[in-house]
Amino acid sequence: MVNKKRVLITGAAGFLGSHLCDRFIKEGFHVIAMDNLITGDLRNIEHLFKLPDFEFYHHDVSKFVHVPGELNYILHFASPASPIDYLKIPIQTLKVGSLGTHNLLGLARAKKARIIIASTSEVYGDPTVHPQTEEYYGNVNTIGPRGVYDEAKRFQEAITMAYHTFHGLETRIVRIFNTYGPRMRLNDGRVLPAFIGQALRGEDLTVFGDGSQTRSFCYVDDLVDGIYRLLMSDYVYPVNIGNPSEITIGDFAEEIIKLTGTTQKVIYNPLPKDDPKQRQPDITKAKEILGWQPKVSRAEGLKITYEYFKSLPNEVLYQRDHKSFDSYNK
Ligand code: UDP
Repeated sequence: MVNKKRVLITGAAGFLGSHLCDRFIKEGFHVIAMDNLITGDLRNIEHLFKLPDFEFYHHDVSKFVHVPGELNYILHFASPASPIDYLKIPIQTLKVGSLGTHNLLGLARAKKARIIIASTSEVYGDPTVHPQTEEYYGNVNTIGPRGVYDEAKRFQEAITMAYHTFHGLETRIVRIFNTYGPRMRLNDGRVLPAFIGQALRGEDLTVFGDGSQTRSFCYVDDLVDGIYRLLMSDYVYPVNIGNPSEITIGDFAEEIIKLTGTTQKVIYNPLPKDDPKQRQPDITKAKEILGWQPKVSRAEGLKITYEYFKSLPNEVLYQRDHKSFDSYNK
């Protein structure tokens, strides 16, 4: 039997991590999944547990990470990823992006593995350049509510480049823009699960601010394909992966109302502090270097995602807080 390439995926029980596990299994890898299950959910990967080429470690990567045997690739995707989560667990958010990344870079070095780290459009903060190119340095409030995530991710990029230049480690950096699809946590506070959850529960849709702020939503399969291509490429600098199709949050609420057929209305709540006014990826680099661009339209992607949320049991639909927050020890 040919030895399979071995990949470690952190944050494997999360939204993106679980889709990455599926993709690497499909590509014929042996997948070692790791998650501390603070925001992740084992239900996202339970279909993989029966496979001989899948194993799971319940571990917090902010602590020393040990994986027996060889590793060819590491994908560091462990992190809370919604503004509500950063407010609830700010220290853990900082630790997983900084200490966690340091541990995984060390592991990559010890195993001579190539590592890709999940960075974010949040490194651009509330951007003054539009659309955002990789050359833009960003506009981040270090001490605002998003600072714990934004600065952890900016540090993560810096330490990753330092390991590349100083130790010659093979590193890749993906800057992920707003992504959606099945397995998003219904109650993580992000706009798409918030709106769809509200429609399913017969509640009004809560638009923050006047709804004129923009976002650009990428369907998860497109994102995963971009990440896969970047990991397999030889490009070491950050690459934006996202869908440039931009929409205001007000118009997005209208799209969700049409999609779900809800008879509820939009209500307006205060805009959270430092909420970026506009966001749209410039994906010229991804197109040129990776031959990648998104294929799934918002209409198609939203339909699939809505079907997924509709299929969830009522206890998930009405669960207000994530189970693991209650049981989590600091
Ligand atoms: N938003 C909203 N209503 C909600 C949740 C979010 O209007 O119930 C807005 C939020 O203020 C932001 C946008 O939707 O302008 C996207 O928010 P999200 O938390 O999904 O991600 P962000 O891109 O801000 O990190």
